[in-house]
Amino acid sequence: MPIAADTSFFDSSSWAVARNLSLFLVVVFWLATAYWVYKDARRRIEDPWLVVMAVLLGLVPPFIGPIIYLFFRPSEYIDERRERALEMRAIEERLAERDLRCPVCRGRVESSYLVCPVCTTQLKRACGECSAPLEPIWQACPYCATAVPPIAVSGDAPLPPLRSRRKAG
Ligand SMILES: [Zn+2]
Ligand SMILES: [Zn+2]
Repeated sequence: MPIAADTSFFDSSSWAVARNLSLFLVVVFWLATAYWVYKDARRRIEDPWLVVMAVLLGLVPPFIGPIIYLFFRPSEYIDERRERALEMRAIEERLAERDLRCPVCRGRVESSYLVCPVCTTQLKRACGECSAPLEPIWQACPYCATAVPPIAVSGDAPLPPLRSRRKAG
């Protein structure tokens, strides 16, 4: 048999080169989509095993896996979730602060009050040095570093009304 002078294009080496090149590009694109899934999953999923699962899905089935991942990935970034949790805690703390009440008359008080303005119950002691309101368990004033003397009377004990108090001497 004579060697065909006009070998078809598909048998030629240029076809082989073109085929290898396109295969190479497909593989590169496949790995790139899987890498994108890896990067995206790391920002959205905290559990490392779930990240591994997502990357496997990004690899198999090729190209369809990343699309399936898109449907099921968490809608929020981890950073956003943490930020929102911090905001919620700040709001809760602010609400708790707003709901402080006098233990005797249940009137609203604020954390900086020394006495209840309604029934004059002592809520906190004032620092002897800088007059800042002190929490009952504090051993030292956090504002001026003065040691707090031990409590002689229980902090919960109500003071007599201000008008009946007389100055010594
Ligand atoms: Zn009160
Ligand atoms: Zn102080």
